[in-house]
Amino acid sequence: MIKIDMKLVCRLIKSNHPKEAIDLYEIIKSDKQTSNDLFLLGLAHYMIGDYNMCTQFLKMSLKECFDANVAQWFKLLDLNQAMRLIITDSINYHFENEIEMSKIEIFIRKTNKAFYETLEFFKTKLRKKIDIYVFAGQNDMNGNCLSYANPPMTSIYVNVNYTGRHELIHVLFNNMYDVIEKTKFIDEGIAVWFDREDDKNMDDMIENNIDISINVQIKKMWENFDDNNIGVYSYKVAGLFVGYMIESVGKENFFEFSTIQTLENANRLFGKDFMNKLITDFEYKIKNRRN
Ligand SMILES: [Zn+2]
Repeated sequence: MIKIDMKLVCRLIKSNHPKEAIDLYEIIKSDKQTSNDLFLLGLAHYMIGDYNMCTQFLKMSLKECFDANVAQWFKLLDLNQAMRLIITDSINYHFENEIEMSKIEIFIRKTNKAFYETLEFFKTKLRKKIDIYVFAGQNDMNGNCLSYANPPMTSIYVNVNYTGRHELIHVLFNNMYDVIEKTKFIDEGIAVWFDREDDKNMDDMIENNIDISINVQIKKMWENFDDNNIGVYSYKVAGLFVGYMIESVGKENFFEFSTIQTLENANRLFGKDFMNKLITDFEYKIKNRRN
């Protein structure tokens, strides 16, 4: 039998099962909790959209033992309500106070449209509304660079002029399945590919996106995206590769693969020879792009 204790509750939160964690916590809540347990329980409540309980737990955590990381999260989730909150049907918008109302209106209109179009495609059932935190500058309230998404928290942090769907795709795609074993190469590739403007054939897309001949090593990029990046072309190549893979294996098979995004899993599902040829052909296309 599995022992129900705080360790199990914390494991459930970290593996993206906040509801189950909170239910189990109800059973053992008379036990002693550390400040970190309280912090994680706070995040679990945020993950299911219970902002009041989230605030309470993070306050209890900070009272138990002050931790700079928890204090940063308190600000990051705007639990101190320093931002202007505008609630719509599917999105809670948090705007930095200095942003003008005219810009806010444009941002909400564009983002709502992008959201419903993206949702139409991915058909994800989200646990809670998406929280979008919008800033006048290029950093969030803790100095982190924009833009980024936090899919388990269904939250997004962007500049007010941001118009893409990239971050929305991260949130919607990563909540399509219970658990996803991500690789950055495929995860970013998906966000780039489904955010593309043009719908031309692959050779034209390579032509439009890559303007020099580059030697890419897909297997290395796949294994370690950050250490094997090729500057501004990294994300574009990842996106094009995802598109090329979808063209080759079909959307349904690709989505099946995408729950475990490693090359080993692709080899297992589609065959090692098939994947080797797909990768070699793609690398050849990038290297020998038309001029
Ligand atoms: Zn991204």
